[in-house]
Amino acid sequence: MEENKKLVTILIPAYNEEEALPILYERLVKLMDGLPQYNFELLFVNDGSRDKTLDILKEMRKSDSRVCYVNLSRNYGKEVAMIAGFDYINGDCMINIDADLQDPPELIPEMLKYWEEGYDDVYAKRKSRKGESIFKKLTSWGYYRVLQSMTNIQIQTDTGDFRLLDRRCVEAIRQMRESQRYTKGLYSWIGYKKKEILYDRDARVAGKTKWNYRQLANLSIDGITSFTTSPLRWAAIIGMLVSLCGFIYMIIIIAKTLIYGIDVPGYASMMVVILFLGGLQLIFLGIIGEYLGRAFYESKGRPLYFIDCYNEKRETNIK
Ligand code: UDP
Ligand code: MG
Repeated sequence: MEENKKLVTILIPAYNEEEALPILYERLVKLMDGLPQYNFELLFVNDGSRDKTLDILKEMRKSDSRVCYVNLSRNYGKEVAMIAGFDYINGDCMINIDADLQDPPELIPEMLKYWEEGYDDVYAKRKSRKGESIFKKLTSWGYYRVLQSMTNIQIQTDTGDFRLLDRRCVEAIRQMRESQRYTKGLYSWIGYKKKEILYDRDARVAGKTKWNYRQLANLSIDGITSFTTSPLRWAAIIGMLVSLCGFIYMIIIIAKTLIYGIDVPGYASMMVVILFLGGLQLIFLGIIGEYLGRAFYESKGRPLYFIDCYNEKRETNIK
């Protein structure tokens, strides 16, 4: 490694990516050859893969010392795999990229260019996404809008984790050790000088997406509850409106009873009110529960992950 060059870490979380890794590596080597002004470090985080991912990484390391890996003790999910990677980054900046080549590495030179110009967070925004279902596109579109409407921090729409972060952003994110992570929100939260570049998102080169809809739904809820407490506020406001209506209705009923005498029928209206209010209460209880659950997880203060092994000569930044 040459001393006077800046070190760029490329961070790649990988879970069962044996088919994609060789293709990814080839593309990255081509890219690194085209950027002789930098030193590179390819930091793979093996997120408890059940296939040959780790063996392939070890094999690659034998022939190329730029390849580094951190092997987690089990599958923790991408969000945690990323923070694990952040703890082991040595570079002056880092570029996070998926193993499946949905994010073209060819954008990296442009990202580095902006970094040299002084931007701290250069993120790629999708103009289009291939190989994804209409339903996924639609839900993702709707979700970002809902999230944005709930917070006054600028949420970056249609961006994933494909981005370049300056060292100081990496250090900032590393300080946020919450266990129910929503890293996309953290990027916005830390601030710093941001730059957006546009690209077309490709379909996966190999393998299948590791996300299922249940995990995506969970991530979406984590996104909202980690970012904003406005659902709680909404619950309170709706509760107040409903009880105001209830109060008015009460006055009407009292007046009616006084004027016209006792009115026995009313089964239908009673049922409607009971069911409606019961449902509303359960929903709000669920919302409160979500936040309580988060507080429960965070209060345990567990380490986010455990490391099984990493490549020799590797030092962690954890102090
Ligand atoms: N990934 C991971 N742990 C997981 C799931 C995914 O490290 O539990 C990695 C995966 O190997 C890939 C990246 O996260 O490099 C994105 O995953 P995927 O392509 O399945 O997600 P999508 O592109 O569909 O959002
Ligand atoms: Mg993908």
